[in-house]
Amino acid sequence: MTVLAELKNLTKRFGERTVLNDVTLQIQEGEILGLLGPNGSGKTTLLKVLAFLLMPDAGEITFRGETVTEKNSERMRLESTMVFQKTMLFNTSVYNSVAYGLRIRKMHKNKIDEEVSKALRLAKLEGFEKRQAKKLSGGEQQRVALARALVLKTKLLLLDEPTANLDPKNASIIEEVIANVNRELKTTIVMATHNMFQAKNLPHRIALMEDGRISEVGTSTEIFGRLSKTLASFAAVENTFAGTARISEDGS
Ligand code: ADP
Repeated sequence: MTVLAELKNLTKRFGERTVLNDVTLQIQEGEILGLLGPNGSGKTTLLKVLAFLLMPDAGEITFRGETVTEKNSERMRLESTMVFQKTMLFNTSVYNSVAYGLRIRKMHKNKIDEEVSKALRLAKLEGFEKRQAKKLSGGEQQRVALARALVLKTKLLLLDEPTANLDPKNASIIEEVIANVNRELKTTIVMATHNMFQAKNLPHRIALMEDGRISEVGTSTEIFGRLSKTLASFAAVENTFAGTARISEDGS
C-alpha cells in the first residue's frame, strides 16, 4: 500500500486549548479511513489539517512525500476537498452548483457537461440538473455537496459527518455513494463520524479519537473485536463479558 498523506507528531492549539495532541497517522492511497470519536474529540480539526486549511503548531504533515508548508499549502489545497457537516449551497440549479468548481478551473463546456453528468450519476442525482439546489431535501442537498466535491477529482476527499441529521434511508444512500466513489474513482476518503454502526461497516480502517489523541488504528474487526477502553467508554458500554450462545434442547 502507498501512503498518500502522513501526520507525524502533530499538535494543534486554539489559544490555551490543545485540540490535536501528538497525532501520528498514515492515510493509505485508495482507502476509506473513518475517524471515530465523540463530539469535541478533534475530528473536524484533523480533517481541516488534511484539507491544508489549518497549519499545525507542531509536527509535520506530508502529502505524497512532500512536506506541507505555509508556502505550498495553496497548491496542496488543489489535491484535497472537504465536505463540511453543514452544507452551504448556492441559490442556483444543481447543474450550476456542481459545475462551479470546473468553471473556475476554466474547463471546456463540453467536458464540464460530461464531468457533471458523471458526478450526478455517482451521487444518484440523475435528472436533478435543473432543480434548485436549495429547495431539495436534506439528503439530496448533501448528495449535491458530495457531487460538487467529487467532480473535482482530487486525490483526497474529506467528509465531516456526512450523514449527520439524516434519516436512516437517506443515510444509507449517502453511504452507498461514498462506497461507489471510492470504488469507481479510487478516491482516498477520510470521514469523521460519531456513528459506531457506520464506522463498523463503511471504512476499511478506523482511527479512534479521544481528547485530541488517536488512541487506536485498525480494521473494523480489530477495533470492534477487542472493544477497547476508549471504544467502550465512548459507546457507554460497561460490564462487557465474553461468552458463547448455545441452542437449548427446547430450541430456545
Ligand atoms: P469534533 O469534530 O470531534 O466534534 P472539533 O475538531 O470540531 O471536534 O473540535 C475539537 C475542540 O476544538 C472542541 O472543543 C472545539 O470547541 C475546539 N475548536 C474547534 N475549532 C476551534 C476554533 N477555531 N477556535 C477555538 N476552538 C476550537
